[in-house]
Amino acid sequence: MVQLEQLQKIAGTDYVKIQEPMSAHTTFRIGGPADFFIEVQNEKILVELIRYCRQQEEAFFVLGNGSNLLVADEGYRGVMLSTKRFSKIEFLEKATDEGKTVVRAGSGVKLSTLASQVAAKSLTGFEFASGIPGTLGGAVTMNAGAYGGEIRDVIQNARVLLQDGTILTLSKNELKLSYRHSIIQEQNMIVLEATFAFEPGDQIQIQNKMKELNSRRREKQPLEYGSAGSTFKRPEGYFAGKLIQDAGLQGYRVGDVMVSEKHCGFVVNVGEGTYAQAMAVIKHVQETVWERFGVMLELEVRRICDL
Ligand code: FAD
Repeated sequence: MVQLEQLQKIAGTDYVKIQEPMSAHTTFRIGGPADFFIEVQNEKILVELIRYCRQQEEAFFVLGNGSNLLVADEGYRGVMLSTKRFSKIEFLEKATDEGKTVVRAGSGVKLSTLASQVAAKSLTGFEFASGIPGTLGGAVTMNAGAYGGEIRDVIQNARVLLQDGTILTLSKNELKLSYRHSIIQEQNMIVLEATFAFEPGDQIQIQNKMKELNSRRREKQPLEYGSAGSTFKRPEGYFAGKLIQDAGLQGYRVGDVMVSEKHCGFVVNVGEGTYAQAMAVIKHVQETVWERFGVMLELEVRRICDL
């Protein structure tokens, strides 16, 4: 078991919280307290914290922006490690043979921040990511994507921390990025930073494309409520939202959690929703869609629960 004093000694007293509600750190606005919540200041501290947790056989979890998570009402028994401070962005202009600009960014950088900085330099290729409310770490891990683009299209490599404490750089191929999947997930690695290459483009066109994609999002998605985005992965040959709608589940509600009336692919928290309510909605949707269409909807949202 880890000791508070030791965590404070490694991470700095001001950055360690106890019994921190995860509802405050997830876009679903659901989740009970984490035993320990640490805003990690740099890589060295991260490595030390992980070494200490392992030594003490304590669970730990690397948190980005909490936009793909559903955390149990009982919370998390272990140490939550927030990467928000890994926020450095560097531009290396015309650094590739083809004249592309290389951008290196920390895993805690938000995709919206990176997209606007890339656009401000008149670089094209990252417009698709500007409305995804996650960090780079979460996005590389999930190979996040939208509107025909995905991380795999633009990433060059990522610096990662392995289970045994080794730090190495994995090339795009070594990252094994596929639909909402990567080697990071398979092997419980931690993304420290990622490097991208972008072509020069027309700044007005880039800004307009981001505006257009974001207004399509606002029009189609229930952004006024808590959620973790698309609740289910896209089953091959189908769209999850359409199957759910065709099963008559639009607006299906348990407590304060419901299938969005605006977009059936989203399960939303319309008030003081709980994990138990969210799971009741999710299970009912999975069972009904299976009975009606013989398609098993797999969760895209990552659950954090001990049971
Ligand atoms: P978190 O939710 O914090 O974590 C998700 C997973 O990534 C966890 O397993 C966590 O351990 C892991 N992780 C986080 N950081 C690291 C790291 N540094 N190293 C290793 N593992 C890490 N997703 C899409 O792909 N496309 C969309 O269009 C999209 N739209 C969305 C719209 C809304 C309204 C919402 C709420 C979500 C949407 N999402 C979408 C889902 C989500 O934003 C993405 O999956 C995002 O990449 C998650 O990033 P995060 O930083 O929030 O990760």
